[in-house]
Order: sequence, then structure tokens, then C-alpha cells
Amino acid sequence: MKKLVFIFAILAAVLSGCIAEEPENAVWERNPTEHWINGKNGEKLNVGEHELDEESFCEICGCEIFDHGNGVITVSNYDEKGNPVRVTNFAFGGNSFDDYISEYKYDENGEVLYSETFENGRLCETFEKTGETVQKDYYYIDGSHHLSISYPGYLGDTIISQWYAYDPEGNIEYEEYVESLLDKNGEVYLNRTTYIHYPTETKVVSEANALGHPLSVEKYDLDGNLIDDYDYAYEYGEENLIVYEKIMRHGNLYKEYFSKVITQGEGLVTQLYKEVTYHETGHYVIEYENGGIISETHYDSEGNIIE
Ligand SMILES: [Zn+2]
Repeated sequence: MKKLVFIFAILAAVLSGCIAEEPENAVWERNPTEHWINGKNGEKLNVGEHELDEESFCEICGCEIFDHGNGVITVSNYDEKGNPVRVTNFAFGGNSFDDYISEYKYDENGEVLYSETFENGRLCETFEKTGETVQKDYYYIDGSHHLSISYPGYLGDTIISQWYAYDPEGNIEYEEYVESLLDKNGEVYLNRTTYIHYPTETKVVSEANALGHPLSVEKYDLDGNLIDDYDYAYEYGEENLIVYEKIMRHGNLYKEYFSKVITQGEGLVTQLYKEVTYHETGHYVIEYENGGIISETHYDSEGNIIE
């Protein structure tokens, strides 16, 4: 065993001798075809072509090459945890147009606690995990800023997430609060969203089912008074396509849509065949065939045809 250690020690000495010309803590620079190390005076040292394995990772510099097939090639480097530390997009001719560098702080279990990403040298994104809470900040080139906070498993059965948008002067433009309610299998069955647009402070509260279809929408004025409200109900056909939709406004029947499921190309789509609009003194019925109107009928509140 001692002998083996000794041999390794010699090997290590020989190997380190081979790369003695490399600066300390050398970082490989790379483009889609080559890697090199920048010397002190800007000269390129240890220039070589990438030697890719079957998974398109270079065995020398460790980067991954991905050809998008549209003239763009992405060269990525990862840390030992598998998270990207540098992602560079190159266009035709090998010129880079986007360079993202990320730094990570890990906890003792190897989970990311904090990360920062720089786009062409400008801070563009941070991630911070505190307990279960995850905060992500996005900084845009015009100075505007988005912030997202999520509380997974809050109260055991609800995921709460918040989203804020700020203009370049730091004024809030938009605020969103989403509660995702989970059933006992951990699946979302209801999303309740409250959003506010500034500076008008238009507030909308909506609920949507697991398929993302709205169940209710309420709009409020500046003083918090309800100014408009809708409720929705659905019947579903094949592949969860909506074949019937009912909309209530202020608690009164407002609209009904009747559709059928048809085959189009490879898939199924719905085709509207009847639409009913209710108003205070009657209702309109419009019938369709293959997308074109075939009849329009106006009924009074007694159900008699007006025209
Ligand atoms: Zn390489």
C-alpha cells in the first residue's frame, strides 16, 4: 500500500510538472472548437481542440458543447454539484453574444442556499433559500426588477407565491399573490390569484381549477368595492376539452358556449356550435357550423322570438 501511495506521489509530481507553465488557479477559456488558458500578458497558453466524449463534454477543459442547429452553439461549464457556472452562447463565426456566470453557496447537504448570476458582467439574477422560502430576484438591463417569493408547503397544504414588478425608478408596477391549494395527494386543485396593477391599484381576485380554467373573477375599485364579478362552470369532453361553458355575471346567467370535440390533423380540438348571450330583457342565440354563423335569433324575456 505504501508503495502505491509513493507511486501516486511521483505521478502527481510528474503531472504537475507537465502543467507547470499554467498560471495558478488556471481557468479554461473556451469557444465552440478550442480551449486555452489566458496568460498574464493576454497570450493564449495550452491551446487545444476540445476532445469530446459521447455526451459532448470536453475531457480536457470539462466544458459541454451543445449545437442548437440554428447557428447558435452553447458552451457550458458545471461545478461538481452539476450546476452551471458558466454558460456562453456563440453565434456563427464563433463570436459570443451572451455570457452567464453563476456562483453558488451550498449548505452541508449540497443544496443551493444562495446563487448569483451575471449576464455579460451585469448581475441579472439571485436565488436565496431560507428554510422553505425561496426568493428569486431578476434584474433587467433597463433597470427594472422582478421579485418572486415562494413558500412551498405553507400550512402543509398550500403553496404561496408572490410576484412583484418594479419599474427602473423602483416604483412598484404589479403585485401578484397566488395560493395553490393541494389535495391529500399533493396535487393542486385550486389556484387563487390576487393581483394589483399600479398606480391605478386595480385589484383582481380570481380562482382557477387544476386545469387552469377560471372559476371566478372579481374586480375591485380603489376603495375595495366589488365592481365586477364573474363565475364560471364547465363540462368537459375528451382530453379535458371544454364542451360547455357557463358564465354568470353578478350572479345572473350571462353567457353559454356549446362546443363539440372534432378531429383536426393529428389531434382533437373543440368547435363552437352555439353561443347564448343573456341580457336584462331576453337573450341572443347564435348558431355556427364549421366556424361560420348559420343563424341568429333574438328572444324576449318570455322566450318569444323577436327577430
Ligand atoms: Zn475543451
